[in-house]
Amino acid sequence: MEYINESNKIPIYDECDVLVAGGGVAGISAALSAARQGAKVTLLEREYMLGGLGTAGLIAIYLPICDGMGNQVSFGIAEELLKLSVEHGFARRNPEEWFREATVEERAKGNRYLVEYNPHMFAISAEKLLLKEGVKILYGTVAASVNVNDGKINAVITENKSGRRAIKVKSVVDCTGDADICVLSGAEVETYVQKNVLAAWYYFYDKNGIKLNPLGYAELPDDEKDGTEPEMLTQDRFTGIDAEEISRFIQLGHEKIEEDVLRRNANEETVEPVTLPSIPQLRMTRMIKGICPSSKEDDHKEIEDSVGVFSNWRARGPVYQLSFRSLYGKDVKNLITAGRCMYSTQSMWDITRVIPVCAVTGEAAGTAAALTDDFASLDVKLLQDKLVEKGVKITF
Ligand SMILES: Cc1cc2nc3c(=O)[nH]c(=O)nc-3n(C[C@H](O)[C@H](O)[C@H](O)COP(=O)(O)OP(=O)(O)OC[C@H]3O[C@@H](n4cnc5c(N)ncnc54)[C@H](O)[C@@H]3O)c2cc1C
Repeated sequence: MEYINESNKIPIYDECDVLVAGGGVAGISAALSAARQGAKVTLLEREYMLGGLGTAGLIAIYLPICDGMGNQVSFGIAEELLKLSVEHGFARRNPEEWFREATVEERAKGNRYLVEYNPHMFAISAEKLLLKEGVKILYGTVAASVNVNDGKINAVITENKSGRRAIKVKSVVDCTGDADICVLSGAEVETYVQKNVLAAWYYFYDKNGIKLNPLGYAELPDDEKDGTEPEMLTQDRFTGIDAEEISRFIQLGHEKIEEDVLRRNANEETVEPVTLPSIPQLRMTRMIKGICPSSKEDDHKEIEDSVGVFSNWRARGPVYQLSFRSLYGKDVKNLITAGRCMYSTQSMWDITRVIPVCAVTGEAAGTAAALTDDFASLDVKLLQDKLVEKGVKITF
């Protein structure tokens, strides 16, 4: 390969206590919790709305914060954001037994505590909330590089309309979904071995109104396959961390949406697409190699450094405590992750990547980032107390 040298003097134009890279659900939760601990927070978002896959990616189903047996398990910001996503109405599939007094038995028999929301209203509501809490949001801004010294990130280099500039930081929460900051700072990462199947969720309008068409279902992890899975859109697989490959993912998705619309209209359905995803619908790409992965073996297991609880969206019953050590690694002291790039086993990743878990991990990571610039040496009891004070449940 040929190379060119780029030598730039980068101006430092700002500084903050906690820099959150990526404004998906994990980033919203991290920024919110850090700001509520009194930290000066800057949130960088590459796109021009908050919510990531949960808004721009059109994945507008906030999966359950209950165990499927009638008990709520995730609280704090995970519940706050679920309610925020439907605060202006526009809820589809609202499980009424969770929005009124009801017994555990009624809730166990009924729907799980999940909502389908309007992604655009959720993005606007989340933005208003973060601004109210004093978070500085920089849209159209990519975290492009980092300056690391003595095992700590000193500054994050941003690229946006103002050029290439640096922000001095005390700690960083990687909520990019793809562990970009981990890679930039030299922290060890793992990739998704099974690789992603194609997804092309889009909104269409027909005589019954607007609907989300979830083209491209999630497949089971390899170790759970039983031969009864829905047909995939294509046999192609995608790592999600290669620019050419991501472009092919997008183009193939567009092709599938066109085919779907034409096929429906040939059946006299009068369908019109109204929104295409503006970020790639990749489920799992890259995660930090943390100290201790979240694992299916953790079902109903008490974890000493628990900083939250979440459930299994696929099955009623299993519940897991979130180990603080699944959020940070050993390589970069002041870097922590949240959302779909936290550390899980390959098989567990499908459980930890979903929206409610992103909110739970975001709150733990953001709170921790406000408390320290060296995650391994943080007093976990202090972190747990701060989370419990804010209404987070860390035990079953
Ligand atoms: C097809 C599909 C279906 C799904 N179905 C469901 C479902 O029904 N329910 C559910 O709960 N979950 C579902 N999920 C999972 C869920 O949507 C995501 O895993 C979750 O929203 C991820 O949130 P996140 O904040 O970790 O990451 P993301 O939503 O990916 O957010 C990352 C954000 O960071 C920004 N970013 C990335 N790199 C940079 C950078 N270098 N600098 C600045 N900004 C950057 C991105 O623009 C993005 O906004 C689905 C996912 C897919 C792909």
